[in-house]
Amino acid sequence: MDERYWNRAFETMPRSDLESLQLSRINSALARAARSQHYRKRLPDRLENLEDVKTLPFTVKQDLRDGFPDGFLCVPLEDIVRLHSSSGTTGKATVVYHTRGDIDNWSELVARSMYMTGVRKGDVFQNMMGYGLFTGGLGLHYGSEKLGSLTIPASSGNSKRQIKLMQDFGTTAIHTTPSYALHLYTIFEEEGIDPRQDLKLKVAFLGAEPYTGETRKKIESLYGIRAFNSYGLSEMNGPGVAFECEEQNGMHLWEDSYLLEIIDPATGEVLEDGHEGELVLTTLQREGMPIIRYRTGDIATVYTGTCLCGRTHRRISRIKGRSDDMLIIKGVNIYPMQVEKVLMDIPEIGHNYLIEIENVEYLDTMKIKVEVVQEIFHGNIGELESLKRRIVEELKNEILIRPQVILVEPNSLPKSEGKASRVVDHREKSPRP
Ligand code: ADP
Ligand code: ZN
Repeated sequence: MDERYWNRAFETMPRSDLESLQLSRINSALARAARSQHYRKRLPDRLENLEDVKTLPFTVKQDLRDGFPDGFLCVPLEDIVRLHSSSGTTGKATVVYHTRGDIDNWSELVARSMYMTGVRKGDVFQNMMGYGLFTGGLGLHYGSEKLGSLTIPASSGNSKRQIKLMQDFGTTAIHTTPSYALHLYTIFEEEGIDPRQDLKLKVAFLGAEPYTGETRKKIESLYGIRAFNSYGLSEMNGPGVAFECEEQNGMHLWEDSYLLEIIDPATGEVLEDGHEGELVLTTLQREGMPIIRYRTGDIATVYTGTCLCGRTHRRISRIKGRSDDMLIIKGVNIYPMQVEKVLMDIPEIGHNYLIEIENVEYLDTMKIKVEVVQEIFHGNIGELESLKRRIVEELKNEILIRPQVILVEPNSLPKSEGKASRVVDHREKSPRP
């Protein structure tokens, strides 16, 4: 018999039991946290009910930087078996320490997440995320071994070798960023290999950077697989915080391990489910380095209603971006994901794009370079022009301003093996009135 759940008791726990568990776990977390330099004297001894979490102070990235390296450590350093450090895309790096128990819990959440998408013992999992300080490599690796699937620590980059590994070992599941999945497809094309026909791929876990539902659909159809959204951040271990189930309708956030809140980023006020805001997370189980009410900067919504899969943990939407990703152009607020949403829905568009913002004569301008597919790029010039007009119109409808669109050759824009950078903002350097 194939059991549907990796850990039925926890995954389908009735909400009231889950909330009692959270209350007892937050109280243990507070007791542990109080042993750190940072939280000492900042926290109450215990909470009477979960609602009172609102009275606890937030923790922000700057606190972690200020506490570098061991201001948040709660156990003797000799009890720590691993550290991970953030890739530092938004500033100075931070460190997170894990005890053996922390690594076990984290692996449990990852195994649970992978199992939820249908991966089983007997599957071959190729982990194409970078191994090292970044959590996407080792995080999924330990979870996958715990689940019992054959784990290939491919790490990132070296596309031809990735393809060879898939062929040699019959890879059925992969883990990568959405931007790398799109890039890798162009190498498949160059090599004349059709991943739909010539491989055993079934599923992909895509995460580490924001992307849209349209991008997911595109990757699913290019590879003939199902792609699942995976969310995590190094401060909360890494991947395995929230993951999509087979319904592919929001990511279950593992509430036995994390306390979930959404706040208004401007006021800090806690919002009801269904309202968009900044995700705030608390580690409920971490021993080495508990973090209380961490402001992730990630913008999302908590879905209301229950999921057909039977899991009781609430779901979050796709991450719209970080609160600091938002661009203000001619006074209009724009998230890069709104641009991606439009682009990835147009079949003539290739796999990469770049947004460039400039300030010319005191006016903000938005230029979007878009790769188009080979046949179109070398095809009829009239067709190219009308494609461009269509893209501009559709973007205008979504973002309310009219960007300049430049169609470029496939594979001509810079690509990254880690997180993609989609925006170059030249404005900081331009003279201001
Ligand atoms: P850094 O903060 O240096 O980039 P991390 O590797 O911890 O280091 O990155 C975590 C961040 O990556 C998250 O806070 C979020 O912004 C982004 N992220 C991770 N997974 C996803 C996802 N599935 N969708 C959108 N963004 C994601
Ligand atoms: Zn579900």
